[in-house]
Amino acid sequence: MSDNFDVIVIGGGPAGYPAAIRAAQNRLTVACIDGWQNRDGSTAFGGTCLNAGCIPSKALLESSELLHRAQHEFAAHGVKAEGIGIDVAQMQKRKASIVKGMTGGILSLLKAAGVTALAGHGRLLPGRKVEYTGTDGAKRTLQAKHVVLASGSEPMPLRGVDFDGKSIVDSWGALEFEAVPKRLCVIGAGVIGLELGSVWRRLGAETVVLEALGQFLPMADGAVAKEAQRHFKKLGLDIRLGAKVSAAKLAKDGVHLTYADAKGEQTLVADRVVVAIGRRPYTKDLLAEGTGVVLDGKGFIQVDDHCLTGAENVWAVGDCVRGPMLAHKGKEEGVAVADRIAGLYAHVNYRVVPSVIYTAPEIAWVGQTEEQAKAGGRSVKVGSFPFAASGRAKAMEAGAGFCKVVADAGSDEILGVHVIGPMAGELIAEAVLAMEYSASSEDLQRTIHAHPTLSEALHEAALAADKRAIDIPNR
Ligand code: FAD
Ligand code: AMP
Repeated sequence: MSDNFDVIVIGGGPAGYPAAIRAAQNRLTVACIDGWQNRDGSTAFGGTCLNAGCIPSKALLESSELLHRAQHEFAAHGVKAEGIGIDVAQMQKRKASIVKGMTGGILSLLKAAGVTALAGHGRLLPGRKVEYTGTDGAKRTLQAKHVVLASGSEPMPLRGVDFDGKSIVDSWGALEFEAVPKRLCVIGAGVIGLELGSVWRRLGAETVVLEALGQFLPMADGAVAKEAQRHFKKLGLDIRLGAKVSAAKLAKDGVHLTYADAKGEQTLVADRVVVAIGRRPYTKDLLAEGTGVVLDGKGFIQVDDHCLTGAENVWAVGDCVRGPMLAHKGKEEGVAVADRIAGLYAHVNYRVVPSVIYTAPEIAWVGQTEEQAKAGGRSVKVGSFPFAASGRAKAMEAGAGFCKVVADAGSDEILGVHVIGPMAGELIAEAVLAMEYSASSEDLQRTIHAHPTLSEALHEAALAADKRAIDIPNR
């Protein structure tokens, strides 16, 4: 193996591996170093997303949702099924095999693209040298013309609530439970907390979610957050807002949590506690002295609008830099940087990064909420369409939720789209594309949508923005 590369990518998650593949497609010589280690000591490319994030969580969400639907929806269809239950070991086996297949797939993709995939640790030295430590501990110094840092993020710990890997776990631990806990407490009602809480609640855990903020899902559109809260309550998720957790003590009868709410100090006893209070950038042992790469006050690698750090030809992408901590945001940054390195044009449109919460109902949005648009001084018009009026949604026994379009009252440009309901994460793609092309609500109105599909709800919501909806009364 040569020690010289055009590009060395440190980190093989959804930001790093696409950067490596695109750089190779651009006919550059590339190495991608990844240090992910599974609990059994094995290595795997794919980062948090494939090993302990997006993919395993979606696998468990799917399994638990199937059980929930069987228990609560089959009867409405007239489907008779008796003795339905969950085999947690089989559910976990399925999840593990999906993860194994997908992470193995990344390695194959890197190899097929001609990328030198190196399992182990990468550390940036001055002058775009990279110290590579293999899994056997052997060190080599590599040289690159460009280095892309894609070291990702890690769960934020909570002082006073120390992880013990068994009773008090992070999101990765919560994906690995071998049995359904009787009493579960999730700290943090963010995206990850709600998804993991939903999984174990659907499987039967008594689940309390403690959230420090007084407002539920403050980043989502107000109407969506309200609708979501109603459905989570129906599911039996006991979400307590304004509840700030400060301490945990392990005792014989479980974990004793202390939290403060409007009424004062409270305690709660749970068998398992999941700390899901957010993630922080991970840059441990990544940067030697004198590289010129600077971290900001929160530990993110400082970059400009093009993901260039302060050091010449050293770039950084994904969760370790500013912006939403989302796999698809990192992927676009990685690909864009690889194109810029090759002298090609690249642009990441941060205005249209979709967000999805894979609960039931699913929640997805892109662009501004109605509240944000108004606070920004925009005069807006809003159209909503309930899935209860969608033939396809009704046929799917999934009539909860709605689509909402927020458009500028003057120019008609779509400012934001918000969906809570079936396949929201898929439906939002149309809105993302529309906004990428600066579409107006009229553009959506004049686009033919197949019948009967869920996408008709978005069509009708766009029509409703001008009080021209056909399938609901216009108000
Ligand atoms: P990572 O995926 O964290 O990858 C970084 C990689 O770099 C890791 O493999 C790490 O081991 C390696 N590394 C770090 N330092 C070094 C070094 N010095 N040398 C070598 N290797 C190093 N996002 C979504 O968009 N959709 C979802 O549905 C979603 N669900 C999630 C569910 C959960 C439970 C969690 C925890 C996260 C979820 N996310 C989701 C967030 C998503 O996982 C991250 O945004 C994404 O993984 C970030 O990609 P990345 O490549 O920047 O970092
Ligand atoms: P996110 O950043 O979307 O992953 O969400 C994490 C959530 O955890 C946020 O809504 C925080 O308000 C919440 N949070 C942070 N610290 C605490 C705490 N000590 N107790 C309860 N909730 C917390």
